[in-house]
Order: sequence, then C-alpha cells, then structure tokens
Amino acid sequence: MKRKACVIGSGPNGLAAAIVLAQAGLHVDVLEAETTPGGAVRTLELTLPGFKHDFGSAVHPLGAGSPFFSSLPLRDHGLEWIHSPAPLAHPLDDGTAVVLERDLVDAKSALGIDGAAWVSLMQPFVEQWSKFAPEVLRPVLSFRVWQPIPFSRWTSR
Ligand SMILES: Cc1cc2nc3c(=O)[nH]c(=O)nc-3n(C[C@H](O)[C@H](O)[C@H](O)COP(=O)(O)OP(=O)(O)OC[C@H]3O[C@@H](n4cnc5c(N)ncnc54)[C@H](O)[C@@H]3O)c2cc1C
Repeated sequence: MKRKACVIGSGPNGLAAAIVLAQAGLHVDVLEAETTPGGAVRTLELTLPGFKHDFGSAVHPLGAGSPFFSSLPLRDHGLEWIHSPAPLAHPLDDGTAVVLERDLVDAKSALGIDGAAWVSLMQPFVEQWSKFAPEVLRPVLSFRVWQPIPFSRWTSR
C-alpha cells in the first residue's frame, strides 16, 4: 500500500511539497481552505468581471529562475512566464522614474555614473545564476556557502 501524506494549503510552497512527495511515490492529499488553489499567487477577478488581478504576489523572478520549477513540465500545463520590458518602476518627485532594466547593459547606461558599479556588483550573479540559484534557494537547513566571492560583493558595499 502507498504511503500517504497530507499537505495543508495549496500555495506555491504547499504545491511544491506535494509534488516532491508524489515524485517520491507517496499518495498526496492537498487540503485547501479557499475555493481555488494558489494561495497568495492566485489571479482573481477582484474588481470587475473580466479584469484579472494579482491577489498577492506580482513579480516572480525567483519563480521563473527556480531550479525546482524548471525541473517540472509546467509549460505543458499552461504556464507561461510573461516578462515585462519594465518589470518595476519607482516614480520620483521631479516627474522622472527609476525603471528596473532587464539587461545589464541597459541598466548601466540608465544609472549614469553609478552604472559601472552596478554592473560590477550584479554581473557575477547574472553570469553564474545557474550555479548560484540552487545554493540560495535550497532549504535553509542545508544551506552552505557556494563561493565566497559573490557573497562578499553583497556585504562589502
Ligand atoms: C500582497 C502580497 C504581495 C506579494 N508580492 C510578492 C511578489 O511580488 N513576489 C514574490 O515572489 N512574492 C510575493 N509575495 C509572497 C508570496 O506570495 C508568498 O511567498 C507565497 O505565496 C508563499 O507561498 P506559500 O505556499 O508558503 O503560502 P500561501 O501562498 O500563503 O498559501 C497558503 C495556502 O494555505 C491555505 N491555508 C492556510 N491555512 C489553511 C488551513 N488550516 N487549511 C487549509 N488551507 C489552509 C491558504 O488558503 C492558502 O491558499 C507577496 C505576498 C503578498 C500577500
């Protein structure tokens, strides 16, 4: 007889846990208090019919870059990551706005005299994301420092 597991809550963490347990051969029940799954990552018609809103989270770089999510055939189940050309913007009092750029070259030119420092800070993470991500996104209890150099870049500025 299959071993059984019960996961309370169908947010992204609950569903990820349920998938891992199911992959390990367990029979998994996911119990959800709400009428639809997804937790704080749901898209709901919160205002007018047909107008869909982020119920909670809206920006998902760690979802798109997640080693675990990447191991799943989510596209076959309809997942499409939509990348906005301007993922984030912060308006300033003088009428201008700071925009988060997706490309380091664009970020460098947008940041002017600070551009080179930004590139120096971020380039190691951009270039080595596939090695870095599994380390920083692994369960906290099994965390180990991947390479001291990129970490020291965060702490030395
Ligand atoms: C307003 C807001 C904005 C956010 N913005 C971002 C963002 O832009 N980017 C980002 O990466 N993250 C963002 N987050 C965080 C992200 O949504 C959470 O980290 C993520 O949803 C956590 O997933 P989870 O599975 O742990 O919990 P949740 O998504 O909270 O899911 C928990 C689920 O468990 C259910 N549940 C709870 N108790 C019970 C029970 N006793 N019985 C049955 N079901 C139960 C709940 O109904 C819910 O569906 C945001 C969160 C909020 C609230």
